[in-house]
Amino acid sequence: MTKNASAKALVAKALVDAAREAMAHAHAPYSGFAVGAAVRLTDGRIVTGANFENASYGLSLCAETVALATVNSQGRLADVEAIAVAGGADGAIVAPCGRCRQVMHEAEQIAGRPLPVYCAAASGEAMIEHSVSALLPYAFGPVDLGVTTKKRS
Ligand SMILES: [Zn+2]
Repeated sequence: MTKNASAKALVAKALVDAAREAMAHAHAPYSGFAVGAAVRLTDGRIVTGANFENASYGLSLCAETVALATVNSQGRLADVEAIAVAGGADGAIVAPCGRCRQVMHEAEQIAGRPLPVYCAAASGEAMIEHSVSALLPYAFGPVDLGVTTKKRS
């Protein structure tokens, strides 16, 4: 493994670990499907989220959306560098739902850089790295509406 690949693997592992820590705070009494997400910013800071279910099921929010909305509330959407999601049941690696893929695409286009998405189970070493474009091909996003980056000058 090269030095860069090794550093990238450490970053991915730390991000998955943070997602798993957030998973412990999931409010998922209806599905029992706890998920955590972690977003790494360009300065190395990590922002997390957990799924937040509601008795009115359709109002429930996924961990990835909670984490990215938190990043946005901190004015850091343009600084997103990578995303991790972990959780679920039966040891299977979790994947973002369709809405979260669209939310990730929004973040990717506003950040102006490809975002790796590290997906993992609730525990274990296995992890899959996806790109947002692989998760959501032919996506519609801010660029299609003439909106590009929010990068600070
Ligand atoms: Zn989702």
